Amino acid sequence: MEGALIARDKVGVQDFVLLDSHTSEAAFLNNLRKRYQENLIYTYIGSLLVSVNPYQELDIYTVTQMQLYRGVNFFELPPHLYAIADNAYRVMCSEYNNHFILISGESGAGKTEASKKILQYYAVTCPTTEQLQTVRDRLLLSNPVLEAFGNAKTLRNDNSSRFGKYMDIQFDFKGAPVGGHILSYLIEKSRVVHQNHGERNFHIFYQLLEGGDKDLLCWLGLERNPQKYTYLIQGRCAKVFSINDKNDWKIVRKAFSIIDFTEKDIEVLSPLNVDLAFYARDAVAKAIYGRTFTWLVNKINGSLANKDSTQKTVIGLLDIYGFEVLDTNSFEQFCINYCNEKLQQLLIEMTLKAEQEEYELEGIEWEPIPYFNNKIICDLVEQKHKGIISILDEECLRPGEATDLSFLEKLEEKVGDHAHFVTRKLADQKTRKSIDWVDFRLLHYAGEVTYCAVGFLEKNNDLLYRNLKEVLCNSKNNIIRECFLLSELDNRRRPETVATQFKNSLTSLIEILMSKEPSYIRCIKPNENKEPGKFDDFLIRHQVKYLGLMEHLRVRRAGFAYRRKYELFLQRYKCLCPATWPHWHGPAVEGVERLIKHIGYKPEEYKLGRTKIFIRFPKTLFATEDAFEY
Ligand code: ATP
Ligand code: MG
Repeated sequence: MEGALIARDKVGVQDFVLLDSHTSEAAFLNNLRKRYQENLIYTYIGSLLVSVNPYQELDIYTVTQMQLYRGVNFFELPPHLYAIADNAYRVMCSEYNNHFILISGESGAGKTEASKKILQYYAVTCPTTEQLQTVRDRLLLSNPVLEAFGNAKTLRNDNSSRFGKYMDIQFDFKGAPVGGHILSYLIEKSRVVHQNHGERNFHIFYQLLEGGDKDLLCWLGLERNPQKYTYLIQGRCAKVFSINDKNDWKIVRKAFSIIDFTEKDIEVLSPLNVDLAFYARDAVAKAIYGRTFTWLVNKINGSLANKDSTQKTVIGLLDIYGFEVLDTNSFEQFCINYCNEKLQQLLIEMTLKAEQEEYELEGIEWEPIPYFNNKIICDLVEQKHKGIISILDEECLRPGEATDLSFLEKLEEKVGDHAHFVTRKLADQKTRKSIDWVDFRLLHYAGEVTYCAVGFLEKNNDLLYRNLKEVLCNSKNNIIRECFLLSELDNRRRPETVATQFKNSLTSLIEILMSKEPSYIRCIKPNENKEPGKFDDFLIRHQVKYLGLMEHLRVRRAGFAYRRKYELFLQRYKCLCPATWPHWHGPAVEGVERLIKHIGYKPEEYKLGRTKIFIRFPKTLFATEDAFEY
């Protein structure tokens, strides 16, 4: 992995690796705070980018800025999303390999904004042709459509992603974006029929009522006033100051037409999501919404599909719902937080663990850095037979007998003594409907979360009665018929439960990611009030801790900024030494030794491993690069 900086920024250091008292959390926070207060929201730890949500529009995302970062080594300019995006792109183009950018952080930390800005960066800076303009527009416009149907106002975030999204941007051999593919994960469909106080249903409903023209509403038999619809006003905040539903509808409507939706599809979608959802029973409404969302993603994928076979490589952008703790946490939060555990585990595997294992493998002397490995929590949730999901599935196989309470008892019996699991009976009857309602608590890597087990069985089963399914399969509406295929009725096999499906889709996502070169963006939420400039020390310290940023810094500090296989290193720099130029015929390691002796590397600047050279400081490499270019 290349990277890290040598320059100091005007405020603090732009790479935590350069901090003087490098292992102190106070120094870390100080640097982050100082920079945040000057609107310098980005800081590196080596090649990882830490971002603090500014909660205000900053003048750092202009086309001029984009062009500034294009093709420039990312240590030469102040830290930025664009530098990460550009670095992944350049390496992809030169090494013909696949990449992903993992954007993580809790709800409201700025993941979706970051992923949109990266997509815009590629749209503006990558080469394109007139023919490919449509691909570019479709890639960009897929966002407002998916956000309309998949995002909602929550207490934590006015535009919270209620589904997980992994998007591959496909490039041809010239580096032009030629297509895309989206994988979506578990849309929170219970929101269609229920919203907590201060929260809304999915944006699309309010957009349609505010922005849809009279004729359309009339044709759909809808009234403009959301107050008429119980499904839209349970949270008592149909209007949100920061959201312009009318305008957003216009954008979505335009996006529909560019992404190949026919007029019929759109007349679509509308009755499907509004009319039926309003009048059908909850289960039907949820089923329809969930399947329409999948239909929508498929439709977008159809329009993004690369029509010829010139695609060579991809950059994947992962923007998934952030770790979330609400007053009442249900099955949905359980899935969301489990997903965040998996991503944290991936990061640990690919950075902290991989880095330290590599030193060991290469025989480089190394003082191991301790870190918290959350694998223990992933196992608690997903282990076969013994994990929470297995226990839940087992209960789902006992219809009529099992209840949420019996699920909880099983949990207590099987994982009750696990270090990260706690149960307690809630005595407070005022806030619960019955004394039987019981919670369980997980000690996640990011903090404790108490889950209310009520509804776990039903949500995990997600069964739609056969007769309702029959009605939907025979619907007059084309899209409903496409979403509910008659063949489903013949299938006697029990469908997989929601949690197991989710677990399997996460496992394949992790496999997809592990096969690519990673870049990481860690997003931090600065305060609970969505307020610009407010740096809440307590809240931020907590995130720095659980995101493992200090451990990451320690590994980076103690480690080596750059490493390369002897053969590759020699191939690039052999022209700098008469003994290795134009050909070196001996073992590559000896060639490298001759080369670095000739250019004057000092012993403290590097180490030679079994197959690779490790360079400690970026400045050593920069000097070599300069000499090379000269
Ligand atoms: P969730 O997990 O709930 O989906 P998230 O991490 O995706 O949360 P975002 O929706 O990206 O969070 O950000 C929340 C809000 O913070 C945005 O709607 C925007 O108002 C503000 N915000 C985030 N990043 C930026 C930024 N770089 N510049 C300006 N505002 C930002
Ligand atoms: Mg989001």
